[in-house]
Amino acid sequence: MDLENTNYTKVINKKLKKCGYCGKKLKPKGYDYLYANISADDIEYERCDCKNAKEYWNMKDEIERLKQKREHYKRLIHRIYKETYMKANYQNKNFENYNARLVNRKAVEIVKDYTKKCIEGSETNGMIITGASGIGKTHLAAAIANKLVEDGKIVLMGRLTTLLDKIKETFVDSTKSENELIELYSNVEMIIIDDLGTERISKWALEKLYTIVENRNENRLPIIITTRFDKNGLLKRFREGQDEQLADAVIAKLYQMCYGVTLINEKELVYADKHKTNSTNQINYNKKIKNCKEKGMN
Ligand SMILES: [Zn+2]
Repeated sequence: MDLENTNYTKVINKKLKKCGYCGKKLKPKGYDYLYANISADDIEYERCDCKNAKEYWNMKDEIERLKQKREHYKRLIHRIYKETYMKANYQNKNFENYNARLVNRKAVEIVKDYTKKCIEGSETNGMIITGASGIGKTHLAAAIANKLVEDGKIVLMGRLTTLLDKIKETFVDSTKSENELIELYSNVEMIIIDDLGTERISKWALEKLYTIVENRNENRLPIIITTRFDKNGLLKRFREGQDEQLADAVIAKLYQMCYGVTLINEKELVYADKHKTNSTNQINYNKKIKNCKEKGMN
C-alpha cells in the first residue's frame, strides 16, 4: 500500500471506535482498515481493558470456543458415521406419528416437556424409558432425537454395541482414536442408547459405558436410555460382564442422573385394576411420574 498518498492520521482518526462501556478510544488492529473497500464491520479493533469490556470479551471468546468445538464434533461424526449419525430407521419417527396408547398419554407429555427443556438447554438430567418390547420406547426416544436435531443439536443415537464398535474400529484404523470417540460421546448435546441390556455386555463395554456416563454427568449433559429391563433386570444383565462392582456403579450413576418414564399397555393396567392390592405396574408408573414431578418435570 502506498501510504504517501494517504492521509494516515486522518484515516486513523476517522476509523477510531469507542468502547461501548467506558468510552475509551480504540485503535484498529493491523493495517487492513487502510484499504478503501473494507467494510466497517470487518475492521478488527483492539480490545478495551476495562472491567465490563473484559467480561464481554471473555463471554464472546467462550461462545467462539464452544462453536469451534461443536464444529469439530460435527466433522468427526461426519468422518466416522459418513453422512448421518442416526440410522435411517430412527429418522422418520416423531411425536406426530407416535401413536400413544391412552394410558401412556401422561408419559408422552412428560417426554415432550423434557424435550422442550433439553432444547432450551435447561435440562441436565437424563431419562430412562422402560417398557415391554414393541411398546414404542425407541419411537419415543427417536422423536426426542429428531426434535433436538431439528433445533440444530448434535445427537447420537444407537445401540451400545454400535456406538462401541466405532471405538473398536480405532484399534485397527489409525485415522480414529479411542480418546477422540470417548470425548465425542462425552460432549455431544445428547446421546441416546437404544435397547440397553438386550445385547450381552462385556466388561470392556461396561468400562466404556461407565466412562461415558461419568463424563456426561460431570459435563452436566443428559443421556437417554431405552430398555425393556427394570433396574434389577438391567443390573443382572450388567453383572454378567463379570465385574459386579462396576455393574453396580454404572447402574447407580445412571439412575441417579436420569428421570424414569415407563410405558405400559392396557393389559397391564387391567391386570393392575383387578389386583388392586398388588398392582405393582401401576404403582411403579405413578411413583415414577411422581418422581418426575418432584424433579421439577411438571
Ligand atoms: Zn472500556
